[in-house]
Amino acid sequence: MRELVIVEEEAVLVREICHLYRVELWGTTKIAKHMNNHSTTKEGGKWDNKAVKNVLFNPTNAGFNHFKAEEWPEEQRIMVAGSHQGIITEEELFEIFSIRDRRKEGHMSRRSFEYPYAGLIKCGICGATYAGNASVHGTKKYLSYRCLSQYAKGTCDAPSISERILNQLVLKHIQLVEDGYQEPKHKPRRKVSLDKELAISQKRRHNWMMALGDGKLSGDDYATLIDGEDSRIAKIKKEAEPEPEQTIPIDEIRKAFVNLKSNWSILNASTQKQIIQSLFKKITIKKSDDWHIVDMLTV
Ligand SMILES: [Zn+2]
Repeated sequence: MRELVIVEEEAVLVREICHLYRVELWGTTKIAKHMNNHSTTKEGGKWDNKAVKNVLFNPTNAGFNHFKAEEWPEEQRIMVAGSHQGIITEEELFEIFSIRDRRKEGHMSRRSFEYPYAGLIKCGICGATYAGNASVHGTKKYLSYRCLSQYAKGTCDAPSISERILNQLVLKHIQLVEDGYQEPKHKPRRKVSLDKELAISQKRRHNWMMALGDGKLSGDDYATLIDGEDSRIAKIKKEAEPEPEQTIPIDEIRKAFVNLKSNWSILNASTQKQIIQSLFKKITIKKSDDWHIVDMLTV
């Protein structure tokens, strides 16, 4: 059996993350941002929400061996005291879990906000999605959107944008664009010979299987290679498919929006969302002096 030994540099990071979460009550986003200032993950990558959570909610850190089948709910995770030494105490681990559960409830109520532009807004600097964020002041709520790489990883410095400004921006853009803008865009397509790639892939798989048979490749390594190859081929297949032509019914959108302009604020958020989501597929925004729209793709 593989022995678990504490690597001190890693342990220091684990303790720091657990401390920030459990004692300072920081969120995983803030922790990731902070950790990126002076460290990388065990694999050498950037810290993000997921990486921080992997550290926080890992019972191994408190000396447990644990197992959970993928389809089981978290409560069914089997935990047994392991023979290895823990980096944090059992009490600390359970405190971390209970903080998580309390926050989950809080999150649910925050999630109940509808974000009309959910998933549509892309950052003109880094390409990441702008995610919705709500703040409540008294009886009023304010919706805004912020670049995911900016707030989750700190790798981008794009500012956030309020929904009010975003609405104005989109409206202005639609009114400004010439009809010439709606010419279908033909993207230059990468020439991919699917047949050729499939033949190469077959050969690779065959070689790996032989290596596996000869004991030159471990079962794990073989599985990793096959997984990688599967996703590579899936990507190539996707690229080989012709892309649907884009036509932008700008006139209709303009009309819809102008009509909406005066009524917008009295619509409830889920109606706003329905409308926005039915009009647009992607809107890339960027702030130089002022906000502007880099690219707009309609449905
Ligand atoms: Zn960004």
